[in-house]
Amino acid sequence: MAQQRALIIGASRGIGLGLAEELAERGWHVFASQRQPSERLARAVEDAAIEIVTADVTDPASLEALARGIEPGSLDVVLVNAGIMGGENQSAASATVADVTEIMMTNAVGPARAAGLMLPLLRDGGILAFTSSRMGSIADSTGGYDLYRMSKAAQNILARGLFEQDAKRRGIAVLSLHPGWVQTDMGGLAAHLTVHESVRGLADVLETEHATAHRFLAYDGSEISW
Ligand code: NAP
Repeated sequence: MAQQRALIIGASRGIGLGLAEELAERGWHVFASQRQPSERLARAVEDAAIEIVTADVTDPASLEALARGIEPGSLDVVLVNAGIMGGENQSAASATVADVTEIMMTNAVGPARAAGLMLPLLRDGGILAFTSSRMGSIADSTGGYDLYRMSKAAQNILARGLFEQDAKRRGIAVLSLHPGWVQTDMGGLAAHLTVHESVRGLADVLETEHATAHRFLAYDGSEISW
């Protein structure tokens, strides 16, 4: 079988970096993106089939340059993983225009734009994935963290649009993935899962969930309600 090829946007640290390493260990060739030189990513590249590329999901020119550098139809998986928690002020009652703009551009609009530009790089029947969050589920929400939840719910609906408008007719699966609560700079030390535990599950999902549908799945393959 030909070597599988993935592009992970947002792979300088945390879940994105861990998944790049996990897929490379499983024999994949991985394009891993950073915004600025990342020492952690540079170390990973020393002994793995990982190629470093550059992209910022809030900078369309950087996304266009990234897309130009990879052969159309040559990828099995594109994962848009980039994301931020946003500032201290997470309340809709007091959010500023700048707070809303930053989180929506980084977690929803930027990822959707990135995904749209990367779709031609995917082979028919491939997988377009987003690192979403259970916190973007409306059905399973306790409230709180308004801005982060809003941005991931928005990402989910934009992912559905890409599936219905572009991916479906090419047999491309669209996956909105919940990585679990993970020990990263974002998740903190109290989180339930190590990066390794989360990315092992996410890699299993990416190797098996090829149905032409848009699904909301956790790292262990379980379905999350929208
Ligand atoms: P992290 O350690 O803070 O890493 C975030 C990654 O996103 C970094 O590689 C960062 O790059 C990149 N990034 C941020 N803004 C970007 C932009 N504008 N353009 C390109 N890349 C950008 O967080 P993480 O925990 O690994 O989170 C990864 C994803 O999982 C996020 O989408 C997050 O919302 C989601 N998630 C995490 C958890 C959790 O418990 N950790 C739970 C649910 C969902 P830089 O190094 O350049 O900043």
